[in-house]
Amino acid sequence: MTEANPGRAGMRMEVVPLVEEGRGAGERSGLYANVRGQFDRAANLMELDPNIRRILETTTNEVVVHFPVRMDDGQIEVLTGYRVQHNNILGPFKGGLRFHPAVDIDEVRALATWMTWKGAITGIPFGGAKGGIQIDPSRYTDTELERITRRFTFALGNVIGPEYDIPAPDVNTNPRIMAWILDTYLSMMPPHERLRCTHVVTGKPIESGGSLGRKKATGQGVVFCIEEWAKDHDFDLKGATYIVQGFGNVGSWTAQLLKPHGAKLIAVEDVTGAVANPDGLDPEDLAAHVRETGGVFGYPNAERIDHQTFLRTKADIFVPAALENAITAETAPLLNVGLVAEGANGPTDPEGDAILERRKIHVIPDILCNSGGVVVSYFEWLQNKRSEYWDLEEVDCKLKKKIVPAYRRVQDTARKYGTDWRTAAYVVALGRLETVYKERGICP
Ligand code: NAD
Repeated sequence: MTEANPGRAGMRMEVVPLVEEGRGAGERSGLYANVRGQFDRAANLMELDPNIRRILETTTNEVVVHFPVRMDDGQIEVLTGYRVQHNNILGPFKGGLRFHPAVDIDEVRALATWMTWKGAITGIPFGGAKGGIQIDPSRYTDTELERITRRFTFALGNVIGPEYDIPAPDVNTNPRIMAWILDTYLSMMPPHERLRCTHVVTGKPIESGGSLGRKKATGQGVVFCIEEWAKDHDFDLKGATYIVQGFGNVGSWTAQLLKPHGAKLIAVEDVTGAVANPDGLDPEDLAAHVRETGGVFGYPNAERIDHQTFLRTKADIFVPAALENAITAETAPLLNVGLVAEGANGPTDPEGDAILERRKIHVIPDILCNSGGVVVSYFEWLQNKRSEYWDLEEVDCKLKKKIVPAYRRVQDTARKYGTDWRTAAYVVALGRLETVYKERGICP
C-alpha cells in the first residue's frame, strides 16, 4: 500500500507483495492468473504500449486487515478483510465488498482489476477496486454481522473515501450492510464533514441515499445486453428458454427482467441445489421463496435436479450469476446453450473459454455484461454529490445509454480484430486507459 495507514489499536495492518513477486500467504483461488491470461491476449493483439502494459498489469494498493470482533457469546474472533485498489487513472477506485469464506487476496486482486476494465468500457469516471471479508456470513447472527461490518470499516479507515475509493454490494452483502458502512464511516468524520460524505458507499437503501434502480441494475444491464444480442441475431426472446446459476441479486433480477420479454426460465441452481420445470419457473415467485427460505431448494413448483443435469439442460441462454470458475474444461462441454451472458464476475476460466469458442457458443463477457451495477453506482454517487434524486425512468434510460454503446464498441472491436468478445472488451478498456496515460503522462 503506498499510503501509510495509521492502523488502530487492536488491529494489525499488513502490506502484501505486488503481483510480480508471486502469490502471497493465504492465496488459493488462482483467479488472478485468469485475468493475466485475458490481459496478455488482448495486450498482444492490440500491441499495447509496453510501458502502459507494465502499469496496468500491476495493482496500485493492496490492504489486508486483521480485526477483532466481539461475538454475541462474548468471545472475540479475529477476522481477515481485504481491499485491493487496482487503478485510478480514470477516477476514484470503485468496487464491491464480498463476504465469503473463499475470499482471498488473489480473488480480490482479480475482481479489482476487472472493475478497472468495466469503468473503462462503459466510459464512466471510475477506477477499479474490490474487497471482502473471509467469512461465511450464514454462521453469524445479524448483530454479529453488523459489528463485523462496522469493525471492518473502522479498520479500513481512510483506505476508503467518497472521492477516493467507494465500496458497493457484492456476494453476500446488500443495502443494509452498505448502510452500516456509511454510518460507521460518517461517525469517524468530523461533524461538519459528515453530510458531504454520503457517497462513500453505493448500493445504499433508498432512504439512506441510495438510487432507484441500483438493486436491479446489474440484472438490468445483463438484460440490455441480451436484448442487443437478440436483435443482432434476429432471435425472438418471446418463448426463448434460459437457465440461471445463482439466484441472488444478479440472477434473480436478470430473471425477473427477462420475464416481460416472454422468455422462459426452465432451471435454476444456487448454493442450496438446483431445480427445474420445463414449463417455466416464475422468477418473482421463486425470488419470494428464496427470500423466505434462503435458497431455491424445496421450491414447490419444480423438480429437484443435480448439478450435472442442471448444466446439461437444453436452453437458448445460460446466465451464470453465482461465483467464478463455473465454466471450465470439465463443465463447458456439458452446456447445451447458444449464448452465455455472464452476470457473475469471472464465471468462465480460460479453458472453459476455449471450449465455448470451439463449440461456437456466444459469450457476452462479464466486464461488459454485468457492468450495469457499477454504472448505476456511478449514478448514485452523482446524485449524492449533487443532492439530487432521479426517478427510475431516468436511471434506466441513462443506464441503457451507457450499456448499449459499450456493447456496440465491443462488437465493433471484435469485428475489427477478428477476435472473441472477451478479448475485444479488453481491447476497448485497455485502449481507453492507454489514451489517458499517454495524454497525462507520469508525474513526477
Ligand atoms: P448474491 O450474494 O446476491 O448471490 C449469489 C448467488 O450465488 C446466491 O444465489 C448463491 O446461493 C449462489 N451461489 C453461491 N455459491 C454457489 C455455488 N457454489 N453454486 C451455485 N450457486 C452458488 O451475489 P450477487 O450480488 O448476485 O453476485 C453474483 C455474482 O455477480 C458475483 O460474481 C458478483 O461478483 C457478480 N456481480 C455482482 C454485482 C452486484 O451489483 N451485486 C455487480 C456485478 C457483478
